[in-house]
Parts: sequence; C-alpha cells; structure tokens
Amino acid sequence: MLTGLNIAVIGGDARQLEVIRKLAELHAKLWLIGFEQLDHGFTGTSKAKLEEMDLSRIDAIILPVAGTSLSGQVDTIFSNDNIILTAELLKKTSEKCVIYSGISNSYLTSAAEKAGRKLVQLFDRDDVAIYNSIPTAEGTIMMVIQHTDYTIHGSNIAVLGLGRVGMSVARTFAGLGAKVKVGARKSAHLARISEMGLSPFHLDDLKEEAKAADVIINTIPHLIVTAEVISNMPHQGLIIDLASKPGGTDFAFAEKQGIKAMLAPGLPGIVAPKTAGQIIAGVLSHLLAEQLPKRSEEKS
Ligand code: NAP
Repeated sequence: MLTGLNIAVIGGDARQLEVIRKLAELHAKLWLIGFEQLDHGFTGTSKAKLEEMDLSRIDAIILPVAGTSLSGQVDTIFSNDNIILTAELLKKTSEKCVIYSGISNSYLTSAAEKAGRKLVQLFDRDDVAIYNSIPTAEGTIMMVIQHTDYTIHGSNIAVLGLGRVGMSVARTFAGLGAKVKVGARKSAHLARISEMGLSPFHLDDLKEEAKAADVIINTIPHLIVTAEVISNMPHQGLIIDLASKPGGTDFAFAEKQGIKAMLAPGLPGIVAPKTAGQIIAGVLSHLLAEQLPKRSEEKS
C-alpha cells in the first residue's frame, strides 16, 4: 500500500492511465496535472494545475516516458495546457521528492540536479527494458509486415545488437520461421547467439552480411548501418531502426539508394499502451513503496 504518499503525475499518454489506476488502487494520493480532458474519475485523485499546487507536500513526481522536451515542456494528450517543468518548481517539492521518468535529457537531468532532487530513469532498469522488449518485438513484427510483400517466415533477417531488445527481437523473428542472423561485437554475445540456435556474425562483417539481408533490424544506438552497408543490401531490402533517436542508420543515404529505412521509436506505447503502462506501473509501485519508510523516518 502507498497510503500517505503524495504523488504528482504530470502529463503523459494512455500508458499513464495504467500508472494512475495502479497507484490509486494502492491508496496513494495522486495529483493529476495536465489531465483536464480525462473523464475517468479515479478514486483518490485530484486534477490540479502545476503553478497552483502546494508542491511542498509532494513525495514523488511521475513524468511521461519521454520526460520533458529540451525546453522543459511536458507532453500530455489529456490537456491543451503548456506545461513547463523548471528547476525552480522542483525546488519547491519535499527534499526527499523523487522524480520518475522513462528517459531523461540534458534539460531534465540538469533541472533535477539544480533542484537537488533524485531523478530515476525507469528505462535504464533491466527489468523495465526487458519487459518492454516484448511489445517492442511485437511492434517490429507489425512494421515488417506493413513494409514488405513477403512473409517473415523464410526471409533473411539480420538483427544488430544482442542487448535487451536485440535478444527479444531475434528470438521472436526466429519463432516466426525467419532465418535470423545476429550481429554483435563481443565473443560472449556471439556464443549466446549460437546457444539460442541463431547464426552469429561479428559486426566487422556487417557489410558482407548485408548482401543477403531482406531486413536489417538495428538496436545499436550508434551509426552502424552505414552507406557502405546499405549499398550492399538487396534493392527490395528494408531497414527498421529501433535504436533511440537519431538511430544507427544513414537514413539520407538509404533514401538516395531507394532502400526503405525507418526509425521506429516508442513501439510499446503504439502497439500495446496498456501493457506498456502496466510494466511501468508495476515497477513504479515497488519503487514508491521503498520510498515509504524513508519518508516516515523523515517525518518522525
Ligand atoms: P542494450 O541492452 O544496452 O543493448 C544495446 C546493444 O547495442 C548491445 O548489444 C551493445 O553491445 C550494442 N552496442 C552499443 N554500442 C555499440 C557500438 N558502438 N558498437 C556495437 N555495438 C554496440 O539496449 P536495449 O535495451 O537493447 O535498447 C537498444 C536500443 O533500443 C536503445 O537505443 C533503446 O533506447 C531502444 N529502444 C527502442 C524501442 C522502440 O520502440 N523503438 C523500445 C525499447 C528500446 P555491447 O554490449 O557490445 O556494448
């Protein structure tokens, strides 16, 4: 139970509704900022405006997955308000207030630092990243189906990177009968790829491997699908880049070559917002529960 915790939920999309539902069930007191157009009345929640709130009693701030923009704007699909989070506002919260966000950027990290508040990036956590890799893999299937005129079964798919997303994507496509090769740079990763029954290749050989790839799915957040790699791909080849912006593909060159290449960010929120929200809600409820004893010690 999160009874006694005062939490400000600022902005978000459909995923945030799952967070609100879960935290309200656990009896936290929620202040919903940027939710004017939300019809659903969750018990224990109050709609509020950021600038009118008494932030001194706030123990936690929950931001959308994207956090803020580089100018501090917090996106919400439930209001037309322009919500700007500043270091000055954060300073008004309780000293132990923790800010939770999916990811961060230089603005948000610096605002939290200036205010002396802890910032937790949920998507840095292995558990969140691994759970999230499931809807990401499903979204990747959707994209490949939408942008090809052949079956996944039997096609040659090169997955780049064997991190949390790469592993799930490779396994899922193999399960659909694709001939999956996975490119990595560490020998342990190459060994794991073999153990998974897939074909490993070293990323140094990507240029050569690209010749037979119907689809390249990149998960490496560095320029890896270079002009040299793209120029070796078959003409009907497809590149789906899952890595965070700006991705790891030379998109301008792909366009010149007539190779379809697309950055596909935020797939969990697109294909499975409910599940994606439940993943965040589950982890958040544990983290907030850990905050409870500290808070009572502080108040006693
Ligand atoms: P991860 O677990 O850190 O895996 C990243 C992989 O990239 C690792 O295999 C890593 O290998 C490799 N890598 C990193 N830098 C490299 C370099 N310079 N050269 C070669 N390999 C390199 O990350 P993840 O959780 O799988 O996420 C991967 C990307 O997908 C991230 O950018 C993440 O933000 C994004 N993502 C996108 C979606 C979406 O919907 N599109 C959803 C979730 C995540 P080493 O161990 O050798 O470094």
